[in-house]
Amino acid sequence: MRHLLPLAFLLLALTACRALSPLPERDVGTATPPSTPGEDTYAESREQMVRYQIEARGVTDPRTLQAMRAVPRHRFVPPDLVGRAYEDRPLPIGYGQTISQPYIVALMTEALRVEPGDRVLEIGTGSGYQAAVLAAIGCEVYTVEIIPQLAEQAAQRLQELGYERVYVRQGDGYFGWPEHAPYDAIIVTAAPDHLPQPLVQQLAPGGRLVIPIGPQGSYQTLWLFEKGADGQLQATNLGPVLFVPLVRGEQ
Ligand code: SAH
Repeated sequence: MRHLLPLAFLLLALTACRALSPLPERDVGTATPPSTPGEDTYAESREQMVRYQIEARGVTDPRTLQAMRAVPRHRFVPPDLVGRAYEDRPLPIGYGQTISQPYIVALMTEALRVEPGDRVLEIGTGSGYQAAVLAAIGCEVYTVEIIPQLAEQAAQRLQELGYERVYVRQGDGYFGWPEHAPYDAIIVTAAPDHLPQPLVQQLAPGGRLVIPIGPQGSYQTLWLFEKGADGQLQATNLGPVLFVPLVRGEQ
């Protein structure tokens, strides 16, 4: 744990949605696109991102890697940050929120073990990037965002980019989206301090739920919960992470 402390302050400065995993051996900080980028340039940046940030840290699921290579992350960040879209870090998307670090998106996607055709619930749409990655795998995605402007922007962006099987709703995701339950997989990209029971109820038998849980303003633990045929949950600790808090709407 000793080496984590100085790193912790750096990570806090960089804001949320970041793992405390060791950096890959190669310095990925220099892999920014050149100043006159075309779509091909971004494809190369994505390839570098997948190799040196994601595969280098142990993500091997071919569907996840393929989706991370396919989704144009630069289309999900604010215009002034397009040139930094493939950096090894979360980026601000307005309203005090962030698009998660690419590695974290890949780690959580792999842990969900989704297949084409699976129905997936996401809590915390943000930019819509994680939803697009799941849609690129072939999932039908239901995603809930509490900030109205982000929900609207993400819905529009996903439509423009042609992700047809992503449904965005504005609301408090603590309660899930019961109308479309049960879900084969549920992913939560903001951190509550306990496991929300509505989400457990909306998970199908055999389903997977990936969620950061922990106190606000500190590290959380990323958990994988697997629901057995008998409804029992089995928990696996996927390591420490730093996410923005899951805020609560009107109750
Ligand atoms: N998955 C996003 C990143 C999420 S950042 C992406 O790919 O870009 C976390 C998001 O969760 C923020 O947009 C925040 O507004 C949202 N959020 C926080 N509390 C929430 C809640 N109770 N219900 C739904 N969304 C919530």
